[in-house]
Amino acid sequence: MIEMLKISLVFLFATTPTHAFSKFDNHDYVDGPGIFSDSGIRGPRYSEQIKTMKELAKKRPDIVRVVEYGKSIRGKTLTAILLEPKNLPVTKFALVTGATHGNEYLNIVDRLTQALLDSNTDVLENYIASGGALLVVPIMNPDGYDRRRRGNAKRVDLNRDWPNSRSPKPSEFKQPESEALSKLVENFLSDNPLTKLNFAMDYHCCVDGMLLKPWGYQKGEYMSQNEEIRFNYFVDPMLKYFPRPGKVGTPPDLLYSAQGTTLDYWFDQYGAISLTYEGTRRKEEGMLSFHVLWWEDILQNI
Ligand SMILES: [Zn+2]
Repeated sequence: MIEMLKISLVFLFATTPTHAFSKFDNHDYVDGPGIFSDSGIRGPRYSEQIKTMKELAKKRPDIVRVVEYGKSIRGKTLTAILLEPKNLPVTKFALVTGATHGNEYLNIVDRLTQALLDSNTDVLENYIASGGALLVVPIMNPDGYDRRRRGNAKRVDLNRDWPNSRSPKPSEFKQPESEALSKLVENFLSDNPLTKLNFAMDYHCCVDGMLLKPWGYQKGEYMSQNEEIRFNYFVDPMLKYFPRPGKVGTPPDLLYSAQGTTLDYWFDQYGAISLTYEGTRRKEEGMLSFHVLWWEDILQNI
């Protein structure tokens, strides 16, 4: 009898798919070597995030408006806030995104706008008054965010969905969340022909404040020296302001190659200064004031 039980146990384990017992199964890990992706930082539900965005637009209708730019797979309204001058052509444009990986929420992008408006330096106000626009997407992947999952509702990684003319994969958008955001930016640029996309930053977690710059799709690919100089103008302030700045480099050099990232897309498509920031697990939410200093530097130099 015991023998039979043993045999059936062996059979049970042998026929159960191995991934069901993998430590990678219950949490969503990045595909780097043993890096834990979950930020450990909990946020309010996506519906609350939308409420916060609407409240901000109500408080500052002179410069802030809520933009609904599509639907997630589960039918959530993709929502962003756009800060722009009312009676002035836009000549500068920056983009900040968060929770592209739904479990990598840092509680930074969703507080950044209010924190910049509260700052007594008035840098954001001056940026807008001089023709600057800022598109803030606190949660790019609401279905993944509400379930604390890396991928979207189809468990597809949205940071592998962005085409790059230098790389064969992916050749086109396949996920509604990323495609809708690309269209929003494209439409904004065609409505505002005096600007280009100057700057884009995508917030992820968790590699201790690491800052990634293009190219990510293939090891050994680097931007030109002139581009490096242009990028460092925006990277250096982080090194100056942050108490313990992380490493700076390309994804293949510091982590792994990744095709289809926002990092490569914004640089490839628009020549934007494009960065991916990898926050610190559990601790990044306490870093908001440093992000404000960094962003004030960015907005002054766009
Ligand atoms: Zn990520």
